[in-house]
Amino acid sequence: MSTLLLKNADVVVTMDAGRREIRGGSVFIRDHVIEAVGQAADLPQSAGEVIDLAGHVLMPGLINTHHHMYQSLTRVIPAAQDAELFDWLSALYPVWAGLTPEMIQVSTQVAMAELILSGCTTSSDHLYIYPNGCRLDDSIEAAVGIGMRFTACRGSMSVGRSQGGLPPDAVVEQEDAILRDTRRLIETWHDASSHSMLQIAVAPCSPFSVSRDLMRESAALARSYGVRLHTHLAENFKDVDYSREKFGMTPAEYAESLGWTGHDVWHAHCVQLDAAGIALFARSHTGVAHCPCSNMRLASGIAPVPQMLAAGVPVGLGVDGSASNDGAHMLGEARQALLLARVGHGPAALSARQALEMATLGGARVLGREDIGALAPGMSADCVAFPLGDVGLAGGAVHDPVAALVFCTPPRAAWSVINGRVIVREGRLTSIDLPEVQRRHDVLARGLANAVR
Ligand SMILES: [Zn+2]
Repeated sequence: MSTLLLKNADVVVTMDAGRREIRGGSVFIRDHVIEAVGQAADLPQSAGEVIDLAGHVLMPGLINTHHHMYQSLTRVIPAAQDAELFDWLSALYPVWAGLTPEMIQVSTQVAMAELILSGCTTSSDHLYIYPNGCRLDDSIEAAVGIGMRFTACRGSMSVGRSQGGLPPDAVVEQEDAILRDTRRLIETWHDASSHSMLQIAVAPCSPFSVSRDLMRESAALARSYGVRLHTHLAENFKDVDYSREKFGMTPAEYAESLGWTGHDVWHAHCVQLDAAGIALFARSHTGVAHCPCSNMRLASGIAPVPQMLAAGVPVGLGVDGSASNDGAHMLGEARQALLLARVGHGPAALSARQALEMATLGGARVLGREDIGALAPGMSADCVAFPLGDVGLAGGAVHDPVAALVFCTPPRAAWSVINGRVIVREGRLTSIDLPEVQRRHDVLARGLANAVR
């Protein structure tokens, strides 16, 4: 058995039932589980490894509920820099058609490295395009290699342009093949146990790229295995118009009509969710992945997050794909959530601590996890420490070190422990050779873009 003591943090943000913030606190970890949290003097003073966190805030690892990691290869592509969602997608689909299994693996590791260094310890990823032999297993192997807790979403697209959908026919799959592969992935990889490092979710891409049948059958398949459901919903006005024209319903009504509401469902964006939709989501405990940077980047709008929270909708944060939020910083996303909520809904719309709660407990709830998102005995040992000496926090850390993490320029994590393993040590990733992976990534990114020129 191995033990790890994280001691003497200036503040331990627990996110426990009492939302305690402990000055001069420590966390004691045995193997992959937290055993004790409290004042440094009240905890064991020694362990297999002891890390002194004076000058740091220690908190639960942040949780990212929506991403498309392969898009790290296609950041800032000039043709997609200044477009809204549908034009942005139409510019990028032909590039993504050139993806290979190696590209999925390498881009997933780069995206995860970036997230981990920004304080994230658990992420979901939504892979919905499978050209040239790509498989979700490529993402999963990347996650296992880097040591990140992972919810891998088996995305899909089945309605191509010739059938009235948005994606080109060349990048859609047959529906029976999608369902067969989804079943294989759940049976091969899904681990429902406590402290699981890997779960599978069923995730048709969006109402404008799959059929009603696939939405219905995906829900039935997911529920037969007890796994979660994920898709994009009500992202912008065009998305709502498409739903009204094609289905004669709002996106929320459409989701409900297909069985896509419930405690085991989370939808990305929901920027244009109306009041009836918010009430429906609250009633049915349907979750939302709020992605403020992407919503701003694509000019999708301002999500009604304060209204959702007030109604009791589970809301987590998502950085979204690297091509619609070209800077995936999980703590930065919490900051943008606070700022955007205030632009839309006034200065009291969201506090710093509410933003941090969305990034931890909110994310855990949305991903259906009761074992992450808080520092308390029995929880998975996922903790991050942010340095208060960072010049971006100067002054702010003196007055309120916890709020400073959200109001000031977001620092990188100095330490990250995932499932009891030290993955970031003094600001450096320990599990992969990041400079080498990044070098390969940029060669692949260039090749992918050049292939369509
Ligand atoms: Zn997305």
